[in-house]
Parts: sequence; C-alpha cells; structure tokens
Amino acid sequence: MDLTEFIKICRLLYDRKYVVGSGGNVSIRDGNLIYITPTGLSLGFLTKEDICIADLNGNIIKGKPTSELNMHLKIYQNKDLINAVVHTHSMYCTAFSTLDKKLKLVTPEAEMVVKKIAYVDYFPCGSLELAENVSKCLEDSIILKNHGIVTLGKDITEAYIKTEVLEEVAQLNYIMNNLK
Ligand SMILES: [Zn+2]
Repeated sequence: MDLTEFIKICRLLYDRKYVVGSGGNVSIRDGNLIYITPTGLSLGFLTKEDICIADLNGNIIKGKPTSELNMHLKIYQNKDLINAVVHTHSMYCTAFSTLDKKLKLVTPEAEMVVKKIAYVDYFPCGSLELAENVSKCLEDSIILKNHGIVTLGKDITEAYIKTEVLEEVAQLNYIMNNLK
C-alpha cells in the first residue's frame, strides 16, 4: 500500500491548522484493511512506518491506533462507497459545534462539495455511542457537538477537500454574523 498521499494529507491538515498537538485522526480503507493514524502523535510529523493497520473487524495488525478507531471502523462497516475518513477539531467548525446553530452553505463550492451537513449530539471521544451515531449519518460532512468534524470520501483527497471547504464555510458564517 502506497501511503505517500496519506502522509501528505496528514501534513497538510497540520500545516493548515485543522489539527494541533496530537489531535485529529485519519484513515483509509483498502479491501478488508484499514490504515489509520496512531494515538499520541502529531499528524504533522508522521512517517509511513507510524501508520497503523487494522482489519475491518477491529483486529489490530500493526501499531497503536487512535482512540477513535471505533468510529472509523463503524463508518467503513456501514458505508461501502467510503474509503477515507478525516476527523479534526478545526477551529471555526468546533466553535460553531458548541452552539445550536446550523451553518449556511454560502458559496457555490460549499453547495457542491459539502452539499448537506449532519449534526451529531455530544458523545465522549472514543465511545461506541459516538461511533454508532456518526456512522448512521447519511451525509459526508458531519459536525460533532462540542468536539469537531468528520468528513468522508471515496478517497483521501475527497475527504480532505470536504474538511477544507467545511472549515471555510464555518469561517464565512463567523464573518457574516459579525458583519450584521
Ligand atoms: Zn476528536
């Protein structure tokens, strides 16, 4: 499995400040295997050797995966067409997640890329409840109450772009609210 693009996107998430510290996690699916970021390391400094491997049933084959492994697994188990999952605590989306406000999709790109946002109630990080509620969403762009966001894609680039556009939507909503 070539993880070059995977590592590049983890780095990009860090460089663009969608994740800080050891926050956020990313995975891709290849057949029955998932490649997933490890617990406790910054996404900005990962090498290919750091990437953990598990099978779709949750058996760990290599490394110590993120504590959100359950969420990634459940999503793949429920969605045949999804092959990549990106989870971040990107700043504006996370700030909005604490309010009971829905974001307006203000740009044509947001309409096209994000389409519709799902909102999931608060459940503790790493919990099965969080995993189950996120995996039940029909949308590919999901805001987690008081936590962050999850974006899904047929590949890692698609999932990443959704994170980027969703965070821009939240920034635009913030600016719009301040202009009023
Ligand atoms: Zn998180």
